[in-house]
Amino acid sequence: MRLLIVEDEVEMAEPLRAILTREGHSVEVAHDGERGEELLQTYSYDLLILDWMLPGCSGLELCRRLRAQGNALPVLMLTAKDTVDDRVQGLDVGADDYLVKPFELKELLARVRALLRRPVVLLRSSEVQADQIQVGDITLDLKGKLAFRQGKPIELSAKELQLLELLMRRAGEVLTHEEIVETLWKEAREDASASLNLVAAHIKLLRRKIDKEFDSSMIHTVYGLGYRFGLERKAI
Ligand code: CA
Repeated sequence: MRLLIVEDEVEMAEPLRAILTREGHSVEVAHDGERGEELLQTYSYDLLILDWMLPGCSGLELCRRLRAQGNALPVLMLTAKDTVDDRVQGLDVGADDYLVKPFELKELLARVRALLRRPVVLLRSSEVQADQIQVGDITLDLKGKLAFRQGKPIELSAKELQLLELLMRRAGEVLTHEEIVETLWKEAREDASASLNLVAAHIKLLRRKIDKEFDSSMIHTVYGLGYRFGLERKAI
């Protein structure tokens, strides 16, 4: 997994880098918020370990900006602050978890493992622009009727667009065959097996467009039930 640590204290950042590298991750370190933000705009990561108190742009501010841009990257916030208000503030700007300094490295590793296992879920609706949905590295532009994965435009048919929208709006959940038919093919509901084939065929088409050329899949089959959308992180 690719991790970014944004921490100004070298004596904190270096042991973290060392232990996470030893765990098999690819780890980069930024020592201030601006550099961190620059890296986040340029590269994609699986997890961000973010110190709260940073020179320049604070960790809190950086996290807030990230979420405002629709970036759902898991964020583990590090802080010396430990009051309920601080915790609430950190989680409010969109951090996924929170670790108070000083902490044990094995505690950090446990949190990192938990966050990397968690599928990326759909952002809260207030964070999603009305005509765009984003999950992981996929953006769906509902107005332009185009999907983008890692910035690459993907043209979709009308049905593929509807299907992708449904999957993305329900990211992280199991979407049953019945629910898909119900939403997309109201006219085909009577013939259960025909509609099942219809769903499978369209999923296949959509996968060919949004998953095939990329190194991670977004559409996952839940056998006997339906599908789940999102980046599924491999257990370490
Ligand atoms: Ca600091």
